[in-house]
Amino acid sequence: MRCRVCDAKEFEVAVDLKKQPWGNHFLTVDEVGKEPLYPLRVIYCTCCQTAQLDYTVPKEVMFSNHTYLSGITQSLRMHFQEIANQVDQTFFWGKPMKRVLDIGSNDGSQLFYYQQLGYEVLGIESSVRTAQIANEKGIPTLNAFFNLSTAETIQEPFDVINASGVFFHLEELHSVTAAIKKLLKTNGVFVVQFIYMKKIMENVAFDQIYHEHLLYYTLRTIETLLQRHGLSLFDACLSPIHGGSIIGYVGHIGTRASSDRLRRLQKEEEESKCNELGAYHELAIKMEQLKAQNLEYLQKARQQGKKIFGMGAPVKGNTLLNYFGIDKSLLDCLVEKNPLRKGLFSPGSHLEIKLEDELASPPDIYYVLAWNFRKEILKNNQHLLEKGVEFHFPVYA
Ligand SMILES: [Zn+2]
Repeated sequence: MRCRVCDAKEFEVAVDLKKQPWGNHFLTVDEVGKEPLYPLRVIYCTCCQTAQLDYTVPKEVMFSNHTYLSGITQSLRMHFQEIANQVDQTFFWGKPMKRVLDIGSNDGSQLFYYQQLGYEVLGIESSVRTAQIANEKGIPTLNAFFNLSTAETIQEPFDVINASGVFFHLEELHSVTAAIKKLLKTNGVFVVQFIYMKKIMENVAFDQIYHEHLLYYTLRTIETLLQRHGLSLFDACLSPIHGGSIIGYVGHIGTRASSDRLRRLQKEEEESKCNELGAYHELAIKMEQLKAQNLEYLQKARQQGKKIFGMGAPVKGNTLLNYFGIDKSLLDCLVEKNPLRKGLFSPGSHLEIKLEDELASPPDIYYVLAWNFRKEILKNNQHLLEKGVEFHFPVYA
């Protein structure tokens, strides 16, 4: 294989999570046990240092029918609103006729806030069902994969192009980046949000590694990609979203000066040595330690006869359950809010998903797979905490 970013052919194994099912396909009762397994291995390009998966599950399998709805959590909605306000106030305040494109626009939650600010909005969403939900809410959404040929069908360029949490999904990386370059106005801003590899390492948040995430960026590696297409980061900040993400602001090369906070983050990144192969090997060791701690905790609780439910059924939860080897012997079920997942089973671990509203009684312990929403979860479940329900977070963050 060739590096997804720089085309080089020299790699080292960074982190091996062994064979796992595709994490975002929750199974119907008939599918349980029949799900195919694919290698889940992060390799490290010794040329450009980009961490990436060496096996790609075809994108038609991965993205045409996913059941993730981004608008469903309060903290994500607030985050989307903040982004829209901030981008508008910083770059386009008072400008008439503003246009924004959202790549991987999901149910239109991000575009909704731009629409409120007077932008003409367009979403691109590969999931049929999700695109339909967005269109029904009045957010114009094209059901397509975003790439150069999709971009050819769009006439006018955009002031803002947004891609949150999808930039590492992209199989057609160069086609997509070239399409962004093509559709971005001269003074336009491409807002890219991605989970920050440096934070994954610091928090041992290895469950962010799954088949949909083909690439794991640092500031240095994303810049390598952008520069190849005539784009460049001019500003960036850290966001707590997804347990530690970067919000990067990108323009055409040479159009905007780079910010102090970007330079500060770049300096911290260099000092952390997270771009070096050794950092990945350290991560792999910490993952094994985390696994041992978690299994010990769950086994002990089970021996005491405790009822344990998984809280949330995020895709990353499947990485965690499958890597740790957690199944029905340790967790009774998974509890979710997303009604699209009711009655389905988690791939690999085969835990049934139940809806939070329909539980007869709470468990003794909630094992929180959606650990990145820690604050929101603790706040919303004050009544259960008071009743003595324990909330256990499997990842340090
Ligand atoms: Zn490379």
